[in-house]
Amino acid sequence: MNARRGFLATAVVTPLLAAMARGAQDGESAVRVTRAQPFALSRVRLLPGPFEAARALDARYLLSLNADRLLHGFRANAGLVPKALRYGGWESRDLCPGHTLGHYLSACSMMWASTGEAQFLQRVAYIVDELHACQQATRSGLVCAFPDGDTQLRNVVAGRPVTGVPWYTMHKILAGLRDAHVHAGHPGALPVLTRLADWTVEATQGIGDERFQQMLGVEFGGMNEVLADLHALTGEARYLHLAQRFNHRSLLDPLAEGRDTLDGLHSNTQIPKVIGFKRLAEITGDQRYAKAAHYFWGNVVHKRSFATGGDGDGEHFFPPAETPRHLASAKTMETCCTYNMMRLTRALFIAAPSVAYADYYERALFNGILASQDPGTGMVTYFQATRPGYPKLYCTPERSFWCCTGTGMENFAKLGDSIYFHDVDALYVNLFIASTLDWAEKGLRLRQTTRFPDEAATRLSISAVAPVRFALRLRHPAWCPQLAVRLNGRPLLDSTEPGRYVEVDRVWHRGDVLDVALPMRLHLQALPGASDIAAVMFGPLVLAARMGHEGMRPGDDIVESEYLYGAVLQSEAPLPRLARQGRALEDVVRPAGAPLQFRAGAPGREIELVPFHRIAHERYSLYWQLA
Ligand SMILES: [Zn+2]
Repeated sequence: MNARRGFLATAVVTPLLAAMARGAQDGESAVRVTRAQPFALSRVRLLPGPFEAARALDARYLLSLNADRLLHGFRANAGLVPKALRYGGWESRDLCPGHTLGHYLSACSMMWASTGEAQFLQRVAYIVDELHACQQATRSGLVCAFPDGDTQLRNVVAGRPVTGVPWYTMHKILAGLRDAHVHAGHPGALPVLTRLADWTVEATQGIGDERFQQMLGVEFGGMNEVLADLHALTGEARYLHLAQRFNHRSLLDPLAEGRDTLDGLHSNTQIPKVIGFKRLAEITGDQRYAKAAHYFWGNVVHKRSFATGGDGDGEHFFPPAETPRHLASAKTMETCCTYNMMRLTRALFIAAPSVAYADYYERALFNGILASQDPGTGMVTYFQATRPGYPKLYCTPERSFWCCTGTGMENFAKLGDSIYFHDVDALYVNLFIASTLDWAEKGLRLRQTTRFPDEAATRLSISAVAPVRFALRLRHPAWCPQLAVRLNGRPLLDSTEPGRYVEVDRVWHRGDVLDVALPMRLHLQALPGASDIAAVMFGPLVLAARMGHEGMRPGDDIVESEYLYGAVLQSEAPLPRLARQGRALEDVVRPAGAPLQFRAGAPGREIELVPFHRIAHERYSLYWQLA
């Protein structure tokens, strides 16, 4: 098959695709080349595998929750009698009560689109109707669940000190209603959303520009993004105007000029702002927004991210050179940051399709998102500690309701997203996840069968109503030295140029089958700021060192409060050592029999390595001291 390499280089990977592959490096030239379109969630169905199992756990959790308890504060503020008690955790504290309802509405909407299970649509309809009833009762567009009604919103608008993060919370409710419209198609969602947005327009009208910017010093989620989305849905200029007022210039200006002012900033406050910049770039065509988003992504991914794709310590960016010092923290890598970096990555990919974006997305999906879920209960992490010997801690079902509990509900409801994209004549296959795709416009169904990552291969089976021509663009990941494709059992091509799309442009017939081999190899990912500390990776997977259960009883790692990270289950483990002594990595990290399992170290003192996403209820280390 190597003989066909020349064919690949000249005929299959076209200059267009090469330009797109470069997109993540020099994005501006690629922005004008082409755009990709996402498929609606309803077009993709997961087939059995790790992602479908994770989705099912999330679905079970969503159905276990009582919408009336999430609605408690909304009804109380509208003068209606609540139908059930408030939940605990962040739903009972003054930081952001009501945020969970927004995440829950988003998650149920996406879960409905992802599965077609009627129970989720019923939940969406019930919540939208309840919020409508709240608006009717108060004759105001405002719906919120703060214990003191609209006091904090009035404070933030007036420039007075506030308790909690009022606009952050409102963003979740607006986004939930948007998702109920976009993903669930509930006819009542857009009217409730526009009334709430109109309340926001009115409430902020009298704020001068300078004071508006001061107001943006308090975390406000993705207000610019959701208002830009609402403008796109309605065509109403007032939402676009307000979206732009929610641009925080102290972040936008330096990013647009390529200046790094991120040290010390709260990570998950910034990432949603940048998603909003990217959204506004799409709507307005203003290149400053695009530049800011592009620069931010490159900075965070290449300088500030751990091997998993996660970032931050104690929720904050820090100077990249100081990363080794932060490795000992139990509060590194807030899961919400990964959720939001993936949303930003997806938006950048759509504007300028590039393997570099898809590679990051895959890395974060396995090592950040799939890794965040307790495989037994479906509960999720807040931080994912880089501290050697620390375990993952998970939230409780009903007494935590962290930000990461909310984004966690969404993560596993939209796993069908970003596997495939398309343009008019091309289909992108970005992720190797067992699934079906219904590309109705082409009269085409595609079935991807794979046990990836347990097997380094995937099969794409075409079922077309009639012969149909399109270019199938297969991601050749950077981690795969040589990708081989067979068409209907016969060798078609080899690609030895990772980091670009391999294109198969032909007339496809019912029954065509592409078999793709994507051999994975071991490699090291150095810690930013330290060449002698590295994570061991196999393909896109971070392999964690298993470090036992000492001092852990069942349930110790389930915590109500995120403050317990670093305060429970302490251990003083040093980084495990990896002594190569001039040997190849494959000779030091050796297969241990089962797929994706390895061992390292001298006989008798061996350390097992398994994919980080399979680590649960045990101590681990993500990084190794290279000796
Ligand atoms: Zn979070």
